Amino acid sequence: MQPTPEDYQATAGVDQDGRSPSPSPSGPDRHPASAPTDTQQSAPDERQVSPSFPRSDSTDVVLLSSDTVLFHVHASKLNAAAAPSAGQRTWASNTSTPILVPEPSPVLALMLHTVYATRPSSWASPLPTLIAAIDALVKYDIEPRRLVLPGTPIYGALQTHLPTDAFEVYVLAAHHGLEDLAVEASGQVLAHPVRDISDAAAVRMGATYLRRLYNLYNARKDALQKLLLQGPSFHAAAAAANGVNGFGAATGSGMLDGVTDFAAAPAAQSPVGCGPEGERRLSKAWRARTSSVAWNLRVDLEPDKLRRALEADGSVFDCLECEEAYEARVEEVVESWRNTKATI
Ligand SMILES: [Zn+2]
Repeated sequence: MQPTPEDYQATAGVDQDGRSPSPSPSGPDRHPASAPTDTQQSAPDERQVSPSFPRSDSTDVVLLSSDTVLFHVHASKLNAAAAPSAGQRTWASNTSTPILVPEPSPVLALMLHTVYATRPSSWASPLPTLIAAIDALVKYDIEPRRLVLPGTPIYGALQTHLPTDAFEVYVLAAHHGLEDLAVEASGQVLAHPVRDISDAAAVRMGATYLRRLYNLYNARKDALQKLLLQGPSFHAAAAAANGVNGFGAATGSGMLDGVTDFAAAPAAQSPVGCGPEGERRLSKAWRARTSSVAWNLRVDLEPDKLRRALEADGSVFDCLECEEAYEARVEEVVESWRNTKATI
């Protein structure tokens, strides 16, 4: 039984023994100059054969790509890759008639590398080709989520596109339920504003993965806002009540000890405000540094950038304790932000 619909069967230009009747219709000149090394020709007077899938004693199915490159594969491999429920379509041994498939050779090569879990000679596959290959698997009852798994070459190929095209990878992963890849991509997709998701992308990724992405954006936005709202804690009022600033070697303990020679305490000579005035200064410094972060809130803000945005010039404080409280709060916020969940 032939595995594919009639339109996949070889027709024009392919005779029954699988050899080209003349070199011109399928000759090497017709092959795009940009063809990957997977589709090099084997001899000038024969149809091109994919060097990754050459004829061997064990191959028993011949596929012919739309750009007339032959791929020699194993029916058993194709059948094993197909979904268990797809019993109605099985690949049978047939080495005499190439089966014409609608995919061009770069796409077919990636499909077969996915099925075989093998690494192409070059992984520099453009993302659209990878997407086309994974999408096309479904037509052959092959579920991508059973094959595109962490550690497989095809998964690695998709990972290489995460730094530049995380959103496209996320949409692909979501569409096919590639959970690991979707989670990994989501961590790098935060720079893509949720409001910029097109209708087409939303439909393709489906309600579940769209909702999970939306929830991730919102959760991070809420988390950062909450962190920024809570300013540094003001130090104990006891020191402030003494009019002693934190730079003074003598502290309020002098008063508690009953020592009244305030003139001897250097801090008492310049009693700067760690009363209500100091507290106002502290919260004003916090508001000044957090307002721009909150105003231009980015859920993909890097922790180190957040630290730089919050750091205040020490000169705004004239109390060491206030300055230390401010710095401690910055560190708390940065660490909390670093630990805020960043994937779906
Ligand atoms: Zn203070």
